[in-house]
Amino acid sequence: MHREGTDPDNVQADDVLCDFCGDAAWAEDIPCVEGHQGSLICGRCLSAAYESIIIGSGGTPQPACTMCLERREEPMWSGKRDSAICRRCIKQSAGVLHKSEDWEWSKPTLDS
Ligand SMILES: [Zn+2]
Ligand SMILES: [Zn+2]
Repeated sequence: MHREGTDPDNVQADDVLCDFCGDAAWAEDIPCVEGHQGSLICGRCLSAAYESIIIGSGGTPQPACTMCLERREEPMWSGKRDSAICRRCIKQSAGVLHKSEDWEWSKPTLDS
C-alpha cells in the first residue's frame, strides 16, 4: 500500500509500505511482492505467512484476501495490520520471490 498522502504521480520508494507490517519495504531493500490495487507483502511477512499457513496449519478466517481481493472460506494469515493473505497468494508470491534472481529469498522449510 501507499503511505497516506502519497502523490500518485510521484511515488517515492519510502511511500510504498508492506500491507502486513507497515515497513517501507522498497526503501529498506526488503524483497516484496505486489498484489492487486497496490497491495504489497514483504519477504519477512511472506516467510511468516508461509510457515504458518503452508507448513503449519495456522491462520484465522478473514473477510477477504488483501492481495487478490477474493473472499475465501479458509484460514488466512493476517499481519499486524488489518490485512490478510490467502493460501493461493502465499504460494504464488513465494514462487515469485523464490525464483527471482534479484533477491536472496527462499521458501521456509520445516526445519528452518
Ligand atoms: Zn511486511
Ligand atoms: Zn489471495
